[in-house]
Amino acid sequence: MLAWFAESKRDLPWRRTRDPYRIWLSEIMLQQTRVAAVIPYFRRFVEAFPNVRALAQARTDRVLANWAGLGYYSRARNLQLAAKEIVSSHDSHFPREYEAALALPGIGRYTAAAVLSIAYEAPHAVLDGNVARVLARIGALRGDLRAPAMWRNLEAAAQELLARNSPGDWNQAMMELGATVCTPKSPRCGECPVEKWCRARKLGIAEKLPSGRKKRATVDVTLAAAVLLDPSGRTLLVRQMNGEGALFSRMWQFPAMETKEPHSGAALTGYLRDIFGVEIEDKLTPLATARHTVTFRNIRLEPYLVRVERLPLVSGTRIVGFGQIRGMPISNATQKIADVAIAHGLD
Ligand code: SF4
Repeated sequence: MLAWFAESKRDLPWRRTRDPYRIWLSEIMLQQTRVAAVIPYFRRFVEAFPNVRALAQARTDRVLANWAGLGYYSRARNLQLAAKEIVSSHDSHFPREYEAALALPGIGRYTAAAVLSIAYEAPHAVLDGNVARVLARIGALRGDLRAPAMWRNLEAAAQELLARNSPGDWNQAMMELGATVCTPKSPRCGECPVEKWCRARKLGIAEKLPSGRKKRATVDVTLAAAVLLDPSGRTLLVRQMNGEGALFSRMWQFPAMETKEPHSGAALTGYLRDIFGVEIEDKLTPLATARHTVTFRNIRLEPYLVRVERLPLVSGTRIVGFGQIRGMPISNATQKIADVAIAHGLD
């Protein structure tokens, strides 16, 4: 595995360093996000916040703005909370002890093991979805890998296999194998360095494993959003009002409401009147719809352009020039709505 990894590993920016801060950052960014998508964000983020102190001292809005587009913003908020704790309680160094790392916000068993092994060569095996799949196939294990008893077994197996002389590279090799060779569909067993030890391969069931995981059913949701525009090209953004349209907590977004039904212009009119005191009568222009997915939610974004004489002054909102939106911490969904409005001729 180690020889295979040395030869085949992808050249990624966070693999050129042993700096715990950068390794930690990469691990957080890579949670639920593809490698290719993470690379440009990682580069920009370390340029903006080159070390843990810079991150701890930064304004949260700036941190979120540098995260905008990556999604799952609680990761960025926890990252900064952890940075503050590292500065105040660990002399600005990422802790070396597993328990201390685990006590930091946003750091679970996987991330603690990954950072400590890669940065400090501490003997902690990682277990994530990729590694679990590899182990399940090698051992021809059937059943739901996320079931607690199964997961504990897999953790024990991963720990037993760990190469004590090179835990960082070993962990990365296991993850790399899962990401590039032992992939969920069509594993490339012919190129696999552990093929001859793999029971699933021997039994011809590699593609069938892992088995048994029930997928959560997806839910269709419509998010009706109002792009309010005053005569000087300014718009209104809001942060999480009354739990409505709060799919993207604490990010700036257009006033929006979640509905079960599409074509919800009438409901949005009522919402704008009740929450913002804006009477719009028939001034609602439907814009092109867009799609957005957040975990199990399929969201139909339904933006409406609403021209108003005056934008309302309501606490928790901000009035900005339409062109300024890009520089603010906004969610991907808000960006998509802004793009639709720009395509309609707004900017
Ligand atoms: Fe995965 Fe195939 Fe390698 Fe087994 S032989 S670990 S199934 S890629």
